[in-house]
Amino acid sequence: MESNRPEDIRSNQPAHLGRCRHPLARALWTVLIYLVVGLLWITFSDRVAEMLFRDPVMLSQVQTWKGFFFVLVTGGILFLVLYRQLHKDRFLLNLQHSQRRALRQREQQLTVLLNNLPGMAYRCLFDDYWTMLFVSEGSEWLTGYKPEELVNNRVRAYAELIDPEDAERVAQQVAEAVEAGHAFSVEYTITRKDGRKIWVWERGCSVDVAGGRTVLEGIILDISDRRALEQELEELATTDPLTGLLNRREFGRVLEEELARSARYKHTMALLWIDFDHFKEVNDTWGHAAGDKVLCTISRLLEDNVRSVDSVARFGGEELVIVLPEMGAQEAWETAERLCSRAREASIMLESDHEVTVTISVGVAVYPQHGQTSAELCASADRAMYRAKTLGRNRVATPESAEPVA
Ligand code: GH3
Ligand code: MG
Ligand code: MG
Repeated sequence: MESNRPEDIRSNQPAHLGRCRHPLARALWTVLIYLVVGLLWITFSDRVAEMLFRDPVMLSQVQTWKGFFFVLVTGGILFLVLYRQLHKDRFLLNLQHSQRRALRQREQQLTVLLNNLPGMAYRCLFDDYWTMLFVSEGSEWLTGYKPEELVNNRVRAYAELIDPEDAERVAQQVAEAVEAGHAFSVEYTITRKDGRKIWVWERGCSVDVAGGRTVLEGIILDISDRRALEQELEELATTDPLTGLLNRREFGRVLEEELARSARYKHTMALLWIDFDHFKEVNDTWGHAAGDKVLCTISRLLEDNVRSVDSVARFGGEELVIVLPEMGAQEAWETAERLCSRAREASIMLESDHEVTVTISVGVAVYPQHGQTSAELCASADRAMYRAKTLGRNRVATPESAEPVA
């Protein structure tokens, strides 16, 4: 069975034809053999006939029959050669036709597949611009640019669409995969023609083409929905649904991280432990929903009054904690006092049009003097907060001493 692989069809001269003589040489050889055989036949057959038949009439008849015989034999050979060649031509034409039909079918299938991708397929040069040699119709849906606008960087080079923050990482990952001869798979953001940013996932591989050039081929899909979902899940896993502050688990992670950093760089850091004073009374007097509102308002107020590097979290109930990286005892004390007075000064308007005020008690613990580990530091800050409660609430205290702020 004949192979109909694309490379056989594409190549100008398949390998098996290279081994055959050129058609001109074959034709010349055939004619030469015919001439030699013909000349030999004419020369020797005449001699043999003259030797065998002395009678001129008989000789003339024999020569006539010899002529018929020669025409008959050469005609038979011509028939066989022509029949073989025409039969072969017909077979090759049929084969070519079926190969073309199969190729057309495969092209159609490929086009349908490419046009129905939730993204685009591409073929590009492995250069700084990702110069596109081909992009499927999906490019307009994915990037807002028509294929002809991206091909050969006519309007925009694809590399320019990649977010500058991701560009270096993506280029490095692709270069490493090309070097190792692997397929690559990368996720990054691009800016569409309409200015909208979307997340995409790209999978491709390098392909060596004629001339020793390397091109990349692959697909790029829109994964913005998946990314948004992941982000939402991440937020749900790390934040408290009522206040929007970090949850207890995330607080534990942040504290461990900051403690490790402080130990590595020999910095101090502080932890504030906050508990609302007489919060049960708020709930009892104004209802649980009002208590929730107070909790949320004070949480936001605390967040607004610390640095962006500080992390405010809800430890549980109406107990909040704040991690203050690279902060010493004095600054932590001042921060706690400021938060204490901001909470005291805040008047919170309830749905019932009543105004409520609350106070907080804050315990301050500083790494490394009040604890080396997260458990030790939390225990110290909690103990300090209870000291503030014992000393009259609405104040700041450390594990050793408590100084009134009001
Ligand atoms: P203290 O000054 O000694 O801290 O008095 P307190 O009333 O605040 O006492 P405690 O801290 O032991 O009680 C906390 C109260 O906070 C109990 C609970 O009803 C209330 N609370 C805890 N979580 C929530 C919440 O999510 N929403 C509301 N509205 N109240 C909560
Ligand atoms: Mg309380
Ligand atoms: Mg409490």
